[in-house]
Amino acid sequence: MKEAEEQLTRSHEYIQKVVDAIADPTMVIDVNNHQLKLVNKSALEFYTNGKQLKEGMTCFRLSHKRNTPCKGDHDPCPINQILKSKKSVSVIHKHYNDDGEVMHVDVRATPIFDENGEQVVQIIESHRDITETVIMEKQLQHIAETDRLTQIFNRMKFDEELKNQIAWASLTNNRFGLIMLDLDHFKQVNDNYGHDVGDQVLKRTVELLHKRIRKSDILARWGGEEFMIIAPLINQEELTIFVESLRSAMENIPHEGVGVVTASFGASVHNPSDNIQSLIKRVDTALYQSKKHGRNRCTIL
Ligand code: GH3
Ligand code: MG
Ligand code: MG
Repeated sequence: MKEAEEQLTRSHEYIQKVVDAIADPTMVIDVNNHQLKLVNKSALEFYTNGKQLKEGMTCFRLSHKRNTPCKGDHDPCPINQILKSKKSVSVIHKHYNDDGEVMHVDVRATPIFDENGEQVVQIIESHRDITETVIMEKQLQHIAETDRLTQIFNRMKFDEELKNQIAWASLTNNRFGLIMLDLDHFKQVNDNYGHDVGDQVLKRTVELLHKRIRKSDILARWGGEEFMIIAPLINQEELTIFVESLRSAMENIPHEGVGVVTASFGASVHNPSDNIQSLIKRVDTALYQSKKHGRNRCTIL
């Protein structure tokens, strides 16, 4: 009996030694209660600053500092997936250590079956740190959807946002407004003061608009000196007042060394039969009318 115990201890020590040699945080988890059966050195180093685990420690407590198991799309639970598929899975999770530091990890989980090879009883998880890649992807995404000069959404991102807004509106029967504005005689600003000063006017215009739109509104640069604003939950009357307030602000706030640069506006409330093209066409037509009737004015269609 004693010999058997000693053998078991030796085999536990051996397994521990093997998993400690793995560079990535690695752990064995009981699928029934999410408790950790085995944790390697690397996992302790990252998640607990090397401190031994408390009795009954769970995977979600260790790596998410949460008291309930993972669920949903953000941190899908690999145990649930493996119980369904009985195959290895890979999921992306956001993990935290005891100091609150974040690590984005590719969690690779593999089932361990019972003696009959039928039921999954445990899983073995390995956590590959992909934080740098995730941060880089986020930076690339930011660059891809941001206008360099003004740091607001570019046209590509605007198109995506407008598509989402139309989908949301048709799903919820909520209306939203679309506003297009174009600076008046902006070519003259460049011609008279130079391109750099023109750039400054564009930046200041964005600041001015930003201060006056609501938090839920989306401001984007649509072209050179053309901007779009998506304004959710707004009716025709409110839209008219809102657009007029933007026009008036532009007219009353001069740019340093340049003076006042006005803008012409076209706007419309989305209606249920609209698609992207029809809605943009309507605000474009509205804007054209504002230009035709003398600029520095608003047309709501
Ligand atoms: P309108 O009132 O009819 O809109 O006249 P406009 O002069 O504003 O319009 P036009 O389309 O003739 O000229 C737009 C000008 O905007 C020309 C272009 O050089 C300038 N522009 C476009 N993008 C930028 C930019 O990023 N920086 C600067 N400084 N100028 C730009
Ligand atoms: Mg213009
Ligand atoms: Mg233009």
